[in-house]
Amino acid sequence: MIRFEQVTKRYADGTTAVDELSFEVAEGELVTLVGPSGCGKTTTMKMVNRLVEPTSGRILLGGEDIATVDPVRLRRTIGYVIQQVGLFPHRTVLDNTATVPALLGWKKARARERAAELLDLVGLDPGTYGHRYPEQLSGGQRQRVGVARALAADPPVLLMDEPFGAVDPVVRERLQSEFLKLQATVRKTVLLVTHDLEEAIRLGDRIAVYGQGRIEQFDTPTTVLGAPATPYVADFVGADRGLKRLAVTPVTEADLEEPAPGRASGSPGTATGTAPGTSSGPSGTAPGRSLGAATGKALGAATGEAPAVPLGASLKDALAVLLQHDAGRVAVHAPGEPGRVLGSLTTAGVHRALRRTAAAEVSSR
Ligand code: ADP
Ligand code: MG
Repeated sequence: MIRFEQVTKRYADGTTAVDELSFEVAEGELVTLVGPSGCGKTTTMKMVNRLVEPTSGRILLGGEDIATVDPVRLRRTIGYVIQQVGLFPHRTVLDNTATVPALLGWKKARARERAAELLDLVGLDPGTYGHRYPEQLSGGQRQRVGVARALAADPPVLLMDEPFGAVDPVVRERLQSEFLKLQATVRKTVLLVTHDLEEAIRLGDRIAVYGQGRIEQFDTPTTVLGAPATPYVADFVGADRGLKRLAVTPVTEADLEEPAPGRASGSPGTATGTAPGTSSGPSGTAPGRSLGAATGKALGAATGEAPAVPLGASLKDALAVLLQHDAGRVAVHAPGEPGRVLGSLTTAGVHRALRRTAAAEVSSR
């Protein structure tokens, strides 16, 4: 459906943004372009709707060389969603959504009907939101309008450049899953740019991992993660995978070292802290249950005590607490028993735990 044939883009100042790029996106496929800032993702995308013209090479859309298609006509067949959304501030949400149908000369009533349908599809009740202005919406809602507008004329192709980049992580996740549902019904051919590997993996049928102006690997998320094609890709997914593992790996007893004297989470009276029966904790400072890392941090900060996390906390949370304090270690106590210190976790322990889970991951493949 979209086909790049040895496409190169050199800007006037000599920057080669994209170098001999060749790839194909099948009809109905969602391909994510992922890579660090400045690697040529946006340039790639803008060449598809001719906001940027290639220096050499060809781009075909449905078999047709887009260089031969009038750019304005071309753009009406391509939905375009960008991070800043670009809604018209003094047009209502409904009219914003109906922009392209109106440009295409649809009758006003039909365009509005279509816009209402699309707003509904992206989870915005047209009765409630249709007559509002963009500034009266939250960032996430504006982003939804952006998607609705891009889809309004039912274009076969959708280009999305960091579409969920400007909203907070919680809203982003919701928008991502809504978009996946939407895509399952509308089945557009989508090129989506992101610098976020997690997003690329989550949304893409296939992922193009960009190095500097080149695609280092173009494959399914599973293959990219499981069999990185180049050291660069391995690095790119590896760093992220390590961080992700931190978040899902709990602190276990095997990761702990003996508690150093005086390092226990409690007051001096419970310095060694391991005696059963002191489980109610020192001086009633601990809430006693579900003492998450955040609480540990707060306790440490508020009382000047050594930081502590419960066994079973994620390595990520434990590391966060560890990095907040100078001690170089964080006490780990029995869940729900802040007074019963089981040992302490150091950065070396975090490394050991990561190696353990990495080994498990490899052997389970
Ligand atoms: P990405 O979207 O991956 O961050 P871009 O495609 O925006 O990357 O940019 C790729 C490279 O091209 C960068 O080095 C950028 O500075 C350069 N670039 C982008 N647009 C222009 C331009 N209009 N003129 C000159 N250089 C540009
Ligand atoms: Mg960009």
